[in-house]
Amino acid sequence: MNLMNRRPSLPKVRFFLVLSTPLVAVIGFWLFNSVQGPIGNLWEQGRPSILLVIGRLMGLLAAYGIMIQILAVARVRWIEQVFGFDRLTRFHRLLGPPIFSFIIAHIILLIFSVSEKMEMSWYSQSVDFFKNWGHVDLAYWGVGLFVVGLIPSIPWVRRRIPYEVWYFFHLLLYVGIGLTIFHQFSIGGDFTLNQTFEYFWAGLYIFVGAHLVYFRFWLIIRNYFRHRFFVEDIVPETFDVNSIYITGKKLEKFQFKPGQFIIVRFCCTGFWQEAHPFSLSQTPNGKHLRISVKNLGSFSGRLGKLKKGTAVFVDGPHGVFTEKKAFNNKVLFIAGGIGITPFRPLIEVLMNKGKDICLLYAIRNREGFVFENELKDLATKGNFRMIPILSDEPSWPGEKGFVDKEKIIRLVPDAAQRDIFVCGPPPMMKGVIGTLRSMDVRSSQIHYENFAF
Ligand SMILES: Cc1cc2nc3c(=O)[nH]c(=O)nc-3n(C[C@H](O)[C@H](O)[C@H](O)COP(=O)(O)OP(=O)(O)OC[C@H]3O[C@@H](n4cnc5c(N)ncnc54)[C@H](O)[C@@H]3O)c2cc1C
Repeated sequence: MNLMNRRPSLPKVRFFLVLSTPLVAVIGFWLFNSVQGPIGNLWEQGRPSILLVIGRLMGLLAAYGIMIQILAVARVRWIEQVFGFDRLTRFHRLLGPPIFSFIIAHIILLIFSVSEKMEMSWYSQSVDFFKNWGHVDLAYWGVGLFVVGLIPSIPWVRRRIPYEVWYFFHLLLYVGIGLTIFHQFSIGGDFTLNQTFEYFWAGLYIFVGAHLVYFRFWLIIRNYFRHRFFVEDIVPETFDVNSIYITGKKLEKFQFKPGQFIIVRFCCTGFWQEAHPFSLSQTPNGKHLRISVKNLGSFSGRLGKLKKGTAVFVDGPHGVFTEKKAFNNKVLFIAGGIGITPFRPLIEVLMNKGKDICLLYAIRNREGFVFENELKDLATKGNFRMIPILSDEPSWPGEKGFVDKEKIIRLVPDAAQRDIFVCGPPPMMKGVIGTLRSMDVRSSQIHYENFAF
């Protein structure tokens, strides 16, 4: 066991360098343009010029932030493998409000600056921008769409609307972003007066656009034509969980690590509109991919009715909830309900590596015991101990209730020396992770997978 032997943070350092170097260059170009531009040093030309320069910086920072936002959620492998989906999604969310503030500051500062120079009212200046300045009308529409697209992302609204509605509105943001690009090149002073910066800026857009197209679209299409995935079988695991077996050609070449997930789109009426993430619930075997889906809502609830032979688009594999995180020889898995899916193949692979594995499996009742036979079979083979904890079955002879501090200390006294993996419903994860922290388990030892983006 070696708790200090954590993964070096070199990939993270490299990643931050890749992202911050262009930002330093952008600020450098902006500074140079404001001091050494064709019309001299703008900082010395009075208030409107200073507002103009700062307003331009706000616009540049907003656009740069948007590029980073897109890269964070474009499912770019080299980024995702460093941070994982969860963190990138959180980062994407965190970056939203500052970017929005930069956009608003950009608009206000430019209206203040130019209206003062032109001796017009703010309102007349805004209208003039819309009517007479190259592609600013498109930028206005873009910002409008941006605002509309953002409303469903406000946490209060997000909690009250279906995922699909939120997703549709979120797509509007991308249309809005697209509309704002034109005015940057047609009237953006930093670019029209400095061709090197213009090419550099265009290069950044091409870099981001190419990543988006490659990782969000091309890889999925390529995967499909390489493997021709289709539904092979649907097997009920419990009363509300079905395993869907997906097969195709050359599956031995579709490589994934136990614990990873795929995003699937079933190509048939009623399903093709939505792509959903599901963990792979079997180790790689070259014959099929298995996902095990709990009936939780409008999409997952209908999956049992899928027809065999249905073509499937598979995006992935994704995720960093893998054996790479298990640094210690001892591992504790804490699963809640359908959160067992990533653990099922992880248990097998870590058993083969000789790790000491303990699974606390929280379920409501016996009927909810997913992979019961498979897990019991694995538990007979040695270094794997499974403890089911049932919350709604008073007659259960084993552990009852929830996964709490008392149970963790009693059932796994050496928990603090283990790498601990948690996956389950959000309230359970929150409670368990809080409990682990209160037990002085270090954050670097706690790994978790969220089943909601
Ligand atoms: C990394 C990951 C792995 C997962 N693995 C499994 C698994 O192995 N088995 C399993 O049963 N479930 C898994 N899920 C959860 C599963 O994706 C959702 O339960 C399912 O998409 C719900 O869709 P629905 O329309 O049936 O339910 P809804 O009631 O419409 O949605 C319930 C919640 O699921 C989330 N969700 C809905 N649609 C999507 C989507 N297209 N993309 C992302 N999130 C969405 C939203 O947070 C939503 O609030 C996983 C989720 C993630 C993020």
